[in-house]
Amino acid sequence: MSEYAIELRDVSRVHGSGETTVHALRGVSLSVAPGTLLAVMGPSGSGKSTLLQLAGGLDRPSEGSVHVEGVALGELGRAGLAQLRRRGIGYVFQDLNLIPALTAAENVALPRELDGVRARQARAEALTALREVDVENVADRFPDEMSGGQQQRVAIARALVGPRRLLLADEPTGALDSYTGESVLGVIRARCDAGAAGLLVTHEARHAAWADRIVFLRDGQVVDETVSPAPDSLLEVQS
Ligand code: ADP
Ligand code: MG
Repeated sequence: MSEYAIELRDVSRVHGSGETTVHALRGVSLSVAPGTLLAVMGPSGSGKSTLLQLAGGLDRPSEGSVHVEGVALGELGRAGLAQLRRRGIGYVFQDLNLIPALTAAENVALPRELDGVRARQARAEALTALREVDVENVADRFPDEMSGGQQQRVAIARALVGPRRLLLADEPTGALDSYTGESVLGVIRARCDAGAAGLLVTHEARHAAWADRIVFLRDGQVVDETVSPAPDSLLEVQS
């Protein structure tokens, strides 16, 4: 068993070819141990979402390797990867991805049911996760019956539900007012304090301050790394 929940080893991701080649990531190495929250900052287009997608096994690197709890994702088949993602990885997408035909509770319960948990227990776990982010009251509403902030919290509950050991969040506070945003980060922080590992993409220094460490991306490369809270001189580079 690896000492890291997630490890990227010299990872590059190239899109396209010829004149349209985009180097989304170039030679990125980083690792996050259980109990640790790592923030990823950087300007738009610097590769933050690409990094998270690779970490979650939603995309594959062009070079290098990604390891979750010591398992090289590149060596898993489609089914093995899907199972590892459902069981171990909670992912908050930049564009939420809630299923419109399912209620909040059904959206949150889905990954558990897909993993073989009985419907009754999956619903109980879903309600617990919804309560954790303070939206248990919308459990039986459909996404189009909720505010943007409520939808975002439901998406976060879906990432937290069950025994997830790795939390990946891509600007998870975008649609939230600052008070709610901070409380959601507090929930992610608490999960990491309880032993999960987290990767948090954010462009707000205030949010990165919840993390133990911050890495800064620029043009697909890690250009700086610091313990949080970052010195003002580093954070100013981002604005
Ligand atoms: P960020 O999340 O920091 O804004 P992204 O990881 O989304 O950055 O994108 C990094 C770079 O890779 C950008 O230049 C983006 O346009 C490019 N990119 C991302 N995904 C694709 C794709 N599927 N095809 C082509 N280029 C892409
Ligand atoms: Mg992004």
